[in-house]
Amino acid sequence: MNSLSTPKPPKRIGELSELAYNLWWSWHIDARQLFKVLDRPLWKATGHNPVKLLQQIAPYRLVAAAGDPIFLKNYDSVISDFKADMSATSTWFNTEYPHLAQHTIAYFSLEFAIHYSLPLYAGGLGILAGDYCKEASDLGLPIVGVGFMYPQGYFHQYISADGWQEEAYEQLGFTEAPIHPVLTAQGQAMHIEVPLDARSVHVAVWQVNVGRVKLYLLDTNVEDNLPSDRGLSARLYAGDREMRLHQEIVLGIGGVRVLRALGIEPAVWHANEGHTAFMMLERTRELVEKGLDFTEAANKVRDTTVFTTHTPVPAGNDVFSLELMERCFHRYWGTLGLDRDAFLKLGMQDSDNTVFNMTVLGLRMANQRNGVSQLHREVCHRMWHSLWPDATEEDVPITSVTNGIHVPTWVAPQMARLYERHLSHDWLKRHDDPALWEHVLAIPDEEIWAVRRWLKYKLIGAVQDRARKRWSEDNVAPVQALAMGALLDTETLTLGFSRRFTDYKRAALILYDVSRLKRMLRSKLQPVQIIFSGKAHPNDEHGKQLIQEIYTVAKDPEFGGRIAFIEDYDMHMARYLVQGTDVWLNTPRPLQEASGTSGQKAAINGVPHLSVLDGWWYEGYNGTNGWAIHNDVEAIDPADQDKADAEELYSLLENKIIPLYYERDINGVPHGWIRIIKETIRSNAPLFSARRMAKEYTEQMYLAAVQSSQLMQMGERQSPAIPNTSYSPSQAPETPASSPASVSTHSTSRTKKGA
Ligand SMILES: *Cc1c(COP(=O)(O)O)cnc(C)c1O
Repeated sequence: MNSLSTPKPPKRIGELSELAYNLWWSWHIDARQLFKVLDRPLWKATGHNPVKLLQQIAPYRLVAAAGDPIFLKNYDSVISDFKADMSATSTWFNTEYPHLAQHTIAYFSLEFAIHYSLPLYAGGLGILAGDYCKEASDLGLPIVGVGFMYPQGYFHQYISADGWQEEAYEQLGFTEAPIHPVLTAQGQAMHIEVPLDARSVHVAVWQVNVGRVKLYLLDTNVEDNLPSDRGLSARLYAGDREMRLHQEIVLGIGGVRVLRALGIEPAVWHANEGHTAFMMLERTRELVEKGLDFTEAANKVRDTTVFTTHTPVPAGNDVFSLELMERCFHRYWGTLGLDRDAFLKLGMQDSDNTVFNMTVLGLRMANQRNGVSQLHREVCHRMWHSLWPDATEEDVPITSVTNGIHVPTWVAPQMARLYERHLSHDWLKRHDDPALWEHVLAIPDEEIWAVRRWLKYKLIGAVQDRARKRWSEDNVAPVQALAMGALLDTETLTLGFSRRFTDYKRAALILYDVSRLKRMLRSKLQPVQIIFSGKAHPNDEHGKQLIQEIYTVAKDPEFGGRIAFIEDYDMHMARYLVQGTDVWLNTPRPLQEASGTSGQKAAINGVPHLSVLDGWWYEGYNGTNGWAIHNDVEAIDPADQDKADAEELYSLLENKIIPLYYERDINGVPHGWIRIIKETIRSNAPLFSARRMAKEYTEQMYLAAVQSSQLMQMGERQSPAIPNTSYSPSQAPETPASSPASVSTHSTSRTKKGA
């Protein structure tokens, strides 16, 4: 299957097949170009999927390419870069930490967004995991990813004529995807088993190559399974609580078993969000099986575990009923050396002992814990203080590593060329160096403006293309084509708002005073247009109502076609939007956005942020690099807060943003505006990169964990050499089952107050 059934390209360009099966191509502009020029219409028709392209392309085109000197020159250069990257020994990680080069870090996540042709993600969490794997490859971080191979992924979104979200699932053709089945040494498909209720679920494993990083994806669609179990891994975030619990058991427990079957012995285990926290239990079980008691085993697991929490919204934390937990784990807790109550307490908060909370489990079973922005760290301290009742709020042992984006994935090629010319030919190699970005200030305004205009043209072209397609092929009403952006205009100040449609993101805040908004949009001389996009969770009625509210104004002639709602937000549309709008808008209810990353993607492309001072913007905003809606109204009633925030939003638009955008010189260049663009790039690009993030995870979290595991192997785990950021097991209370084992009363360097 897969590569075997693919027609082989001529020998001279034979390595295209290998390149197609390594998503390295997706973040290297020249490699993308190589596939694209083979057959542009087919490239588009296959959704930019080189595996599919090579299966469907007319053989004569490959023969022609193999004889075309220009193609061959590019081919040789791409393949040589690819090979060099795959075998490089002088990576950042190997250079900085040569003694750790042999270690492996396992990274578990329920979603991975690597490329839109492999739709294993719903939103921000998956994008973060995907960006992290790519950066790990670039830096030589020895990561292996563990996740799910969902054949149907997340849903596709269509909006009906009356504005209601409709969901459609599409089956991914496994033979057309860049995945390989993982085989045993005997050449059989690898299978592992995971206990579930009274039965076992069989799990097959797929491998995805993300540069140097390997992703192992679990799949329960195996013949030996019950039909219901076969469908377990079909979709992301679908089904009821029981199905979600089953998925998390398969990923957490099964993921550990897969790594064992592959002979991989990670030194550090990183759980991305509570969904994956059962991996900590499985590793504890292994140690109990080897003869340790639960407390000893759990302490060893804690020392080598990193847990990242992403959810300041209480409802965002994954919880399961005790009854459901009992049903799924009654055969398991004994193997941990625990009884029912001790087991259930691992996931209980004293303030709520009626449910099993996955975040609580993760916080209890990992000694390295972090939130995803400085402000989020403070929110975490408040939120989880009850787990460390003896600590002051400030000393709750949760630190932060602020999220960042994978720059090569999100930067527009035209912006990249600008940086290449004006920063340095090797700007990409040093893109987390703030000194490099000082040179942005010297880029001629006309050049930046030409690129910014071009990217807006591309965005509006893509939006109108979709509207045309839906109108001509799917028979939607003309007014729907308008709502999809058919009347958008390339010269108008364009705000982008693309995110999950859920309450706290307050998508409709800008509609707070409809007549005031209308005046802005319909201004003859200085009009504004807004492009919305984003999905609501299939069970989120209120999120769907928000979409309907936006769609209704988008259809309303009173708004002049200046509001558009783009269906089916995904990584592909996200690239157009973060590159092509003029201002990136974000209006979450304060303290509910853990980080947010789309604004960081916009910033690297010179799109300034207009946002509530929440998440990453709390540390990203410097007074001159965009606009902030203040968050100091935390205590007031939500309705008053909406009113105050809407007022601040309108006033920023009317008094600052709109006049500045339309203030032009004789050639139509807005120099004041470009000053903000340059400051956006200069101040945000180096800081909010996945590169800075990956280095921080290494330096702040992984090194401490590796040290613990080495000391553990040497039988010296009580040694004072353990940095004070890892909490000595000697401080553990007698019964870690009912309270976290790690209590710190001293502050660490990383728990200092945010800016
Ligand atoms: C970046 C991204 C997100 C996350 O953006 P937020 O700022 O966290 O809302 C979600 N979905 C897609 C498709 C993205 O590209």
